[in-house]
Amino acid sequence: MNADPIELQKFSDLAHRWWDPSSEFRPLHEINPLRLEWINARAPLRGKKVLDIGCGGGILSESMAQRGADVTGIDLGEKALKVADLHSLETGIAIRYELIAAEALAAREPASFDVVTCMEMLEHVPDPAAIVQACATLVKPGGHVFFSTLNRNPKSYLFAVIGAEYLLRLLPKGTHDYGKFVTPAELAQYVRNAGLTVDALKGMGYNPLTQMYSLNQDTSVNYLLAATRPE
Ligand code: SAH
Repeated sequence: MNADPIELQKFSDLAHRWWDPSSEFRPLHEINPLRLEWINARAPLRGKKVLDIGCGGGILSESMAQRGADVTGIDLGEKALKVADLHSLETGIAIRYELIAAEALAAREPASFDVVTCMEMLEHVPDPAAIVQACATLVKPGGHVFFSTLNRNPKSYLFAVIGAEYLLRLLPKGTHDYGKFVTPAELAQYVRNAGLTVDALKGMGYNPLTQMYSLNQDTSVNYLLAATRPE
């Protein structure tokens, strides 16, 4: 199984706080409008069949469903999925959540989704290339795949680990394992090896003074990558 039990446990321990915007998940709440707009601008979500891989408590899944997408969320964290399910019942936003590995869903439902998203998840798995391959299998020809993850270099170590976990305490210590970070060149290679085309790379920055996130051209720490499956 392409999953790290220690990584899954980290998220499981915090799962009950997923929808508390002042909790450890605050950064995900704050970046969500930015990534949602970026996705929706490239692949208008209304009426689309969307798969959210590593959906966690469903922050992105719900927001995409609110834009009119028909969303399936998958994760290997049982507690996060329970939280996601309960939250969607509370908000009345219909989403299918399932505990299944991306690779297993790819074998069961290939070429089934107009849009596949996999956000802030690749840096937690043992074999990110296999997840990218699963995304490529799951998306329909002509469909879109969106990733976000953390770059690997001295600056990302300083900002994403030392800064976010130790200085600003935005995230619990140990949230991120530097060795698992993925450079844009590596991700682009996985994407091309899977038969997808890279369409765009975007940086995501955090300004500690204004405490605001923004999308920009600086991919040195957090970044997003958009890809398509050729027709
Ligand atoms: N994508 C969500 C949550 C990111 S947190 C968002 O951006 O809002 C990372 C999530 O990845 C957690 O929910 C964790 O359980 C999940 N995860 C980690 N390894 C996984 C794997 N191998 N397969 C599926 N989900 C995984």
